[in-house]
Amino acid sequence: MSERIARLRQRLEEPLLVLAPPNVRYLCGLESTNAGLLVGPEETRLFTDFRYAQAARGVEGVVFAETKRNLAVDLAERLSGRIGFEPDALSYAQYETLAGGGLELVPRRGLVEGLRALKDEEELDAIRRASAITTEAYERLTEERFQGRTERELAWRLEQLFHELGADGPAFPSIVASGPNAALPHARPGERSVQRGDTVLVDAGAKLDGYCSDCTRTFAAGPLSGELREAYDACVEGQLAGLEAVRPRVTGAEADAAARSAIVEAGFGEAFGHGLGHGVGLLVHEAPRLSAESTDTLAATNVVTVEPGVYFPGSGGVRIEDLVVVREEGAEVLTTFTKELVEVE
Ligand code: ZN
Ligand code: ZN
Repeated sequence: MSERIARLRQRLEEPLLVLAPPNVRYLCGLESTNAGLLVGPEETRLFTDFRYAQAARGVEGVVFAETKRNLAVDLAERLSGRIGFEPDALSYAQYETLAGGGLELVPRRGLVEGLRALKDEEELDAIRRASAITTEAYERLTEERFQGRTERELAWRLEQLFHELGADGPAFPSIVASGPNAALPHARPGERSVQRGDTVLVDAGAKLDGYCSDCTRTFAAGPLSGELREAYDACVEGQLAGLEAVRPRVTGAEADAAARSAIVEAGFGEAFGHGLGHGVGLLVHEAPRLSAESTDTLAATNVVTVEPGVYFPGSGGVRIEDLVVVREEGAEVLTTFTKELVEVE
């Protein structure tokens, strides 16, 4: 942990007030929804209220101070001078409070997020184990009947499997989307029952030791129409092209373009309306981004998803998503469930 703080310190021009909970956790190990970590040139100060004070006293390498419940009001009184802050983590009201206390606030974007994008062995191990649980849960789910069960039932069953297999829980609310609902990239599981001929899109991931996994597979409830079958094959082609492109020094936009051009070539370019993928770690969506608009460049030990989709409003959709580690020699795939089309009963 202290090594992470040391790396952050090298990037700072003034003390940085870290308030984003995943960043505080990453740097010092404290899990709190109301903590601040002030990383200065020599010392690191940790602030949180009574509810987290006992845990905070156990954090090594920091000077701890218990604050009032309103952290911003408390910090406005305690701190002074020029301080960097995380613009995505501070509300406008908190900003006003701190500025009102006389602090000179400098916005500093993405400093801790940039460190978090590069995973160490311990983090990779947690993500690898979370992904293995996810794969095993998909194996077990597809041994069960789908047709006649609702999306909500199947989503709940998958989350039960995550727990049974030793996960902390789901990394995010599991998506099970059937038939026309599979055409909605961020569908919420509802009361629709799976029908014969549906594509059933399952997007979920287990969480373990605070780290997320993320995997999508699309299943066929009985034989698919010709169009959906073609869409499946095109999506696999695009996904493999995306995996092939993922390596250090490739930009997020280049990786996206590699997958996209394979899907365009298959004639389904219009039907792939979102970006190729995103980083995964303590959060299920973090740096770097893989999309046409991304300005990120991939680096070894990034953990990213590769998830093209092909959607037909009103009839169905296909998405295939793997979680991979970026390695010098290419993408190391962590979500190893088959990409052959699996027909479920
Ligand atoms: Zn996903
Ligand atoms: Zn994803």
